[in-house]
Amino acid sequence: MTEYVDVNGAKIERSYFDDNVAEAHEYEWSLVREISDDHVHCIVCDVAVSRGMSAFRSGSKWLCKYCMEHFVCDKT
Ligand SMILES: [Zn+2]
Repeated sequence: MTEYVDVNGAKIERSYFDDNVAEAHEYEWSLVREISDDHVHCIVCDVAVSRGMSAFRSGSKWLCKYCMEHFVCDKT
């Protein structure tokens, strides 16, 4: 049976989620106050963050604030 994790209002498969969080820990994130792309996808929860919102960026990867606060920044 597949285990799911509640993330930011979405259900994510546990193994997929764990891999993504582990990956997120390997990057240096910097806050982008206003995204200029139409939207970006968080690498952990895959939620779409719209233009004008803030999120964290590392190269071409994006992390939403929810995942940063709940899964990434408190474990570093
Ligand atoms: Zn996220």
